[in-house]
Amino acid sequence: MSTYDVIVVGGGIGGPALATVLARAKLSVLLLEQSEVYADRVRGEWIAPWGVAETKRLDIYKTLLAAGAHHLTRHVTYGESVRPKDAEAHALNMGIFFPEIAGPLTIGHPKHCQTLFDAALAAGADGRRGANVTEVTLGAEPSVTFIDHNGPQTARARLVVGADGRTSTVREVARVELHQDPPHHWFAGLLVEGAEGWDADVQAIGTEGDFSYLAFPQGGGRVRVYGGYALDQARRFKGPDGARRFLDSFAMECAPANQALVAGRPAGPLLSYINADSWTDEPYAQGAVLVGDAAGWNDPILGLGLSITYRDVRIVSDILLASRDWSPQAFRPYAEERRERMRRLRFAATIQARLDMEFDPAARRRRERHHERSAADPSLSAYGVAIMGGPERAPAEVFTDANFARILDLEGAPR
Ligand SMILES: Cc1cc2nc3c(=O)[nH]c(=O)nc-3n(C[C@H](O)[C@H](O)[C@H](O)COP(=O)(O)OP(=O)(O)OC[C@H]3O[C@@H](n4cnc5c(N)ncnc54)[C@H](O)[C@@H]3O)c2cc1C
Repeated sequence: MSTYDVIVVGGGIGGPALATVLARAKLSVLLLEQSEVYADRVRGEWIAPWGVAETKRLDIYKTLLAAGAHHLTRHVTYGESVRPKDAEAHALNMGIFFPEIAGPLTIGHPKHCQTLFDAALAAGADGRRGANVTEVTLGAEPSVTFIDHNGPQTARARLVVGADGRTSTVREVARVELHQDPPHHWFAGLLVEGAEGWDADVQAIGTEGDFSYLAFPQGGGRVRVYGGYALDQARRFKGPDGARRFLDSFAMECAPANQALVAGRPAGPLLSYINADSWTDEPYAQGAVLVGDAAGWNDPILGLGLSITYRDVRIVSDILLASRDWSPQAFRPYAEERRERMRRLRFAATIQARLDMEFDPAARRRRERHHERSAADPSLSAYGVAIMGGPERAPAEVFTDANFARILDLEGAPR
């Protein structure tokens, strides 16, 4: 039976990023990924500025740039109560959050995973593809059984890292409970090609009628688009022409630039998710620690899963490289930081979902009023600093129940 310092289950984002950092520091690492080829599963392709800062701290940033990642420098928010020209004139400069970061970074998820997997191999990790983990044993002598083209094999390590995504096997074996908010809206994503005329440096969001969208260009006429719609419309984009009808929904009076998207072609699957936050209190157990989605995820409306995952990798790798104490107590500071980080991001996501992803007349009025009120009182948008600059950058008083009510103008809110 082979023995390693660390076995990493899952070769998406968090797994190979952590394997790279640990292998560079000369730990022996086995990295197991079930897929033979990374496919478009409609996953994160936009890294927030604070996530870009994490990639720099991990020394992964240049590898992503070399793989074709590119920065977005402006953000436009369109809306029914705003003239398109005014929305564009008020575009947000995305370089304001960190002096040395031009803005968010975009890169296709399959390419992102492959780039990180290659980096882990180059750093000296033992990376296996087509390796499906079927059994995990934790405790004082952790081991993992996986099946690849050589048949079933078992390996041992001092620690198993669960980087195996939302339906994590490691989380289940570790008996780490996953808490979840009730679903709030449908969220569908599609890669579009041939979106000629869309400015490759500009990201945009907007809501009109019963549809809300986000668009993140990747260069070369490719744009990753997302659309949000009400929970009672489960069948809205079903059927063979669903992707075409989805793209047609981007034709909006408030956002004429979207015509470039409508004129584009689907370049991957259209997949829909029910959006909500999920979190864990203690993402570790004897012999295991969880990173990325396995440890709980933020509602993708904010597009922060990659940034969260890179932060996890940075904190966990710091702990593993600081000492040989890998007991559950060693991961307590990680759990404490992550708990507050996810609480703040859940606060921000809940507000964003209430503002952008509700479509009845009352929600429309709330949206319009929020535009007016936040223009007069910028403190109502301060939670946005957490989204772009990192959850720790906004003051603690932003994340209170009273401020939640004030931002959404709920009855009884402090004025
Ligand atoms: C619709 C949608 C849009 C999103 N948009 C964004 C965005 O714009 N920006 C952003 O930052 N985040 C976004 N996210 C979130 C982001 O994609 C995730 O947070 C991120 O991919 C998490 O990385 P991970 O490595 O934890 O998990 P994953 O990327 O899911 O990787 C897990 C890996 O584990 C492997 N695996 C699982 N089980 C096993 C097993 N038994 N054996 C071996 N391998 C296994 C899987 O094959 C997979 O490769 C989005 C998510 C969704 C659903």
